[in-house]
Amino acid sequence: MDKIYFDHAATTPIRPEVLEAMMPFLGDSFGNPSSIYEIARTSKKAIEKARDQTAAALGADPSEIYFTGSGTEADNWAIRGAAELRSGKGNHIITTAIEHHAVLHTCQYLEKKGFEVTYLPVDEEGIICLEDLEKAIRPSTILITVMTANNEIGALQPIEEISAIASSRRILFHTDAVQAVGHIPINVKQPGIDLLSLSAHKLYGPKGVGALYMRKGVALKSFIHGGGQERNRRAGTENVAGVVALGKAIELCVSEIEGEAARLTAIRNQIIDGALSAVPHTRLNGSRDKRLHNNVNISFDFIEGESLLLLLDMKGIFASSGSACTSGSLDPSHVLLAIGLPHEKAHGSLRITLGRSNTSEQAAYFLGELPAIVQRLRDMSPLYEDFIKKNRS
Ligand SMILES: *Cc1c(COP(=O)(O)O)cnc(C)c1O
Repeated sequence: MDKIYFDHAATTPIRPEVLEAMMPFLGDSFGNPSSIYEIARTSKKAIEKARDQTAAALGADPSEIYFTGSGTEADNWAIRGAAELRSGKGNHIITTAIEHHAVLHTCQYLEKKGFEVTYLPVDEEGIICLEDLEKAIRPSTILITVMTANNEIGALQPIEEISAIASSRRILFHTDAVQAVGHIPINVKQPGIDLLSLSAHKLYGPKGVGALYMRKGVALKSFIHGGGQERNRRAGTENVAGVVALGKAIELCVSEIEGEAARLTAIRNQIIDGALSAVPHTRLNGSRDKRLHNNVNISFDFIEGESLLLLLDMKGIFASSGSACTSGSLDPSHVLLAIGLPHEKAHGSLRITLGRSNTSEQAAYFLGELPAIVQRLRDMSPLYEDFIKKNRS
């Protein structure tokens, strides 16, 4: 069996059509889009085409798309920009306990600057309660930021309802849709989103390029100061190849959503059902159906997720224990703690995120290897030993 890549929420490979589209801009077509001669105009045109493609994928107008250096930058810009824009009206922001660190750490930064932030809890499926949201709103609330789809457990939030609540109270609404765009249908006009972040490398484009959708009429100030690029809102010579790649990648992904969603749902369910039935003392983290088509997150009692990853790696299977950004740290996932897992169970979790290269045969191979690997780790686990002793007596 070739290597199996099961970590598409961490990043995706650049697909061949995308690489082909971006290559000229790493070669002969190197002109600076702000210059006026022919190769510069070629770069400029290519960026505007990518803007059209990105806008079309979201149901937006091209004038509402701003390219950034990452999904993280788009999140920072949206949240800090909205806070600054509305600071005359209030200082309260509402978010959730399970956001990506790009959102959480930006909110924590703003707290140090005098803003107040409510971190809404989630239920055991990882979904916020709309009543909690309504209750959290104050006269001073200026921004609600809730992710569309969670990167660890795939939880899908009721974005339509949340944005309706925000707009009826005239509060800005931002969503981190980095895991959602290109994977589930998104239209910014319906439900009515003010700000939305996305990233190319989560949808088969390159790393280091993202975009912020900014609804017409929501005029956030520039976050990066310098030249007049991106209509004076995001300075810095454009990452032409990256932007072109984002346009191509988002167009392809969105055109394939339906077929890919059905295909991945089947493989996802094969893995969930297979793992839960083959290995005792396991649980699925997050919702059975309010989750991304490509996300599996399972806790195995008595073992450490990190050791499980190492043994899977030795079999050529590349997975994750949760967020790529926190692996290597010993803190349990804030998302798993928020859905109510105790520390030891949060430590024993495995995240598999599927993508274009994955097949049912790969899932079967993984399921064939899994029980023995888990048993080997449990045989070395003092927690498991205690459990067996207790059950005997
Ligand atoms: C990956 C990710 C980000 C960060 O995007 P980058 O382009 O890697 O900076 C933000 N939010 C979520 C939900 C993500 O999965």
